[in-house]
Amino acid sequence: MKPTIYIHHTGKKNRGRYLSHANAFHQREGYPISTFGYYTFYQWFIEPQGKIIQTRREMDPDVVYKDAHKNSISVCLGGNFNNEFPTREQYKALSLLFNSLKQRYGINHFNIKEHREYQNTFCPGLALPRGHFAQLFVYTQYNFFMRELNLLLIKFQNLLK
Ligand SMILES: [Zn+2]
Repeated sequence: MKPTIYIHHTGKKNRGRYLSHANAFHQREGYPISTFGYYTFYQWFIEPQGKIIQTRREMDPDVVYKDAHKNSISVCLGGNFNNEFPTREQYKALSLLFNSLKQRYGINHFNIKEHREYQNTFCPGLALPRGHFAQLFVYTQYNFFMRELNLLLIKFQNLLK
């Protein structure tokens, strides 16, 4: 069964590294430490500067067998998207991550969900319309497709020379 990818925001405006704040919060909530030394239940974290950090193994049994996290991979973006948007670097990083997840699990945009789709929360933020990240996934694939198509066209044009 294909995993569901859940998108979160930290919901807070922090200076410096957002991950360290989220990590401290989840440590207090009692999540177990991961093999990478983090307490967040997220598997992936993306800082506003576009840095992608793997915080937990995908399908880590320590967290994914809790009901809400069953067969899922959680991705958190640092920022408060109730009143700001993800940075361009975060979108770029997330597109890369989406492509990687697609290659490894064969997921499509139906597998991209937002925290607010399973719990009563605003996460990942009121500034973003519902389904925003599923749309980004489609857009990412479209970009990827266009790039492949262009490469094919170039090859074809070279054949005609
Ligand atoms: Zn969330």
